[in-house]
Amino acid sequence: MPTRPYVIDEMISAKTIAARVEALAREIHDTFQGTDKLVVVGLLRGSFVFIADMVRELDLPVEVDFIEATSYGDSTESSREVRILKDLRGEIHDRDVLVVEDIVDTGYTLRHVVGLLRAKEPKRLKTVALLDKPTRREVDIKADWTGFEIPDEFVVGYGIDYAQRNRNLPYIGAVRFLAEE
Ligand code: 5GP
Ligand code: MG
Repeated sequence: MPTRPYVIDEMISAKTIAARVEALAREIHDTFQGTDKLVVVGLLRGSFVFIADMVRELDLPVEVDFIEATSYGDSTESSREVRILKDLRGEIHDRDVLVVEDIVDTGYTLRHVVGLLRAKEPKRLKTVALLDKPTRREVDIKADWTGFEIPDEFVVGYGIDYAQRNRNLPYIGAVRFLAEE
């Protein structure tokens, strides 16, 4: 996909992210301590770096699974449609489940995925989002744990892309478009 020229302004450093992931993992560990198995469900693709760092900080028996969801439609509409492109491989019935999302923006994606997973009747279901843009919210949902609240900026890095680029940046940065001459 062609893009306009842009630069990336660092917003959250790799070091700050690492410290926050460690702190989140401690809280998540305390919540799920004693579990026979925690199924950690990453939302593809943006959460792949976050989930990789998160599970390595969790001293619990974990299984890792993924869902890929995509949303369509005008975000000004209240009925934004979320479609599942790739479903879970494993069972979550009567299991402890942690959903790992990169960004909660309007909230439609997380609400839809949580609804689908709850229908499978897990024992417990909790959610963690690395980033939250509360000013963009259109539906009433909040992750149980949030890494960082950020303003309404388009961000990349640490797994998050712009037109499939910049996922491999170790930090999170805001995209700034340059005026074309
Ligand atoms: P929601 O359904 O909450 O509006 O959408 C959340 C999804 O939108 C995120 O998982 C992410 O894929 C995408 N998204 C929201 N904000 C950004 C952003 O700043 N950068 C990128 N690359 N994706 C975003
Ligand atoms: Mg996403």
